[in-house]
Amino acid sequence: MREHGCPEEDLFSFLSSKRREDLGYRNILSSMCTPPHPVAARTHAMFLETNLGDPGLFPGTASLEELLVQRLGALMHHPGAGGYATSGGTESNIQAFRIAKKQKPVTSPNVVVPASSHFSFQKACDILGLEMRTAPLDDQFRIDTETLEGLIDRNTVALVGIVGTTEYGVVDPIACLSDLAEDRDTFLHVDAAFGGMVVPFLDRPAAFDFQLPGVDSISVDPHKMGMSTIPAGCLLVRNPRWFSCLNVDTPYLTVKQECTLAGTRPGASVAAAVAVLEYLGMDGMRAVVAGCMENTRRLIEGMETLGYPRAVTPDVNVATFSCDHPPAGWRVSKTRAGHMRIVCMPHVTRDVIEAFLGDMSDTNA
Ligand code: PLP
Repeated sequence: MREHGCPEEDLFSFLSSKRREDLGYRNILSSMCTPPHPVAARTHAMFLETNLGDPGLFPGTASLEELLVQRLGALMHHPGAGGYATSGGTESNIQAFRIAKKQKPVTSPNVVVPASSHFSFQKACDILGLEMRTAPLDDQFRIDTETLEGLIDRNTVALVGIVGTTEYGVVDPIACLSDLAEDRDTFLHVDAAFGGMVVPFLDRPAAFDFQLPGVDSISVDPHKMGMSTIPAGCLLVRNPRWFSCLNVDTPYLTVKQECTLAGTRPGASVAAAVAVLEYLGMDGMRAVVAGCMENTRRLIEGMETLGYPRAVTPDVNVATFSCDHPPAGWRVSKTRAGHMRIVCMPHVTRDVIEAFLGDMSDTNA
């Protein structure tokens, strides 16, 4: 550290120069994050110093966390769901596996996840000493349920289905996984970190949530399509009492036990997540999602006209193509199988799509 502090002006000029090194969102087509909704940014500033790790000191903010869980639980057809605000999909997935593992104490526990699963499940398995069994995908990049069945045995503590896969934006056949989980008496975790804030707002949403009796827990991230500030995730569970298996004593805090993974936790991004939901309501979210889906369709149509076929027709706003030369100046990503991947987040507007297609067309010429 410096021996003597730096003058404020010099400091902020240094910080501004660093901030200018960051990319602006306009040309970022690869991210599942987006600039926060203005209401989220304003709320975040209001709640900057709040700490949900010691909720008795911040009862107002803590009640906003409860409201977030209530709102998202109701969105997932279970207003009485248990839950808490996590730092994102990774923490939610880890915590879901912790609960599943504690519910079924076996000597060599395994979990069965689709090959499309997010890398957070590798971290969860590593931390928790779980064998990760990977179920292959069908030709539409969804989990192949027949092969999956053969991977389940009496040491299987959890199955996972994905709603809005990170790479291809498809939804696994969750109803089928729910039946399987019930038949085999296995915990079913649904990773809807991305799609949980998309699918409920589509015109004809497929059932993927607690209305299916086999679904035990759901990850859903307000800091992705919920346009909150970062970090804002949420883990929901069917039975609020399940969290008690994660409790540790917290003798010097205002609450005597906690089940969360993190100790000190931001209230600002959680309040921001609630603020967006309250401000937009169902019809506002439907409009945002309809816009993203329309832009996704336009992108697919435009790319196919240029000779780049889609890899799959997505269920959510992630488009993938057989194309290995993105135009200069745009950030797209590549899937493990080598497809170009574009996430049509709210900042990826129709104008942005047209500009991208224009540059693709020039690249072609
Ligand atoms: N699950 C899915 C389906 C995701 O797409 C992601 C991130 O993109 C995650 C989990 C991890 O979320 P986070 O980066 O917020 O921890």
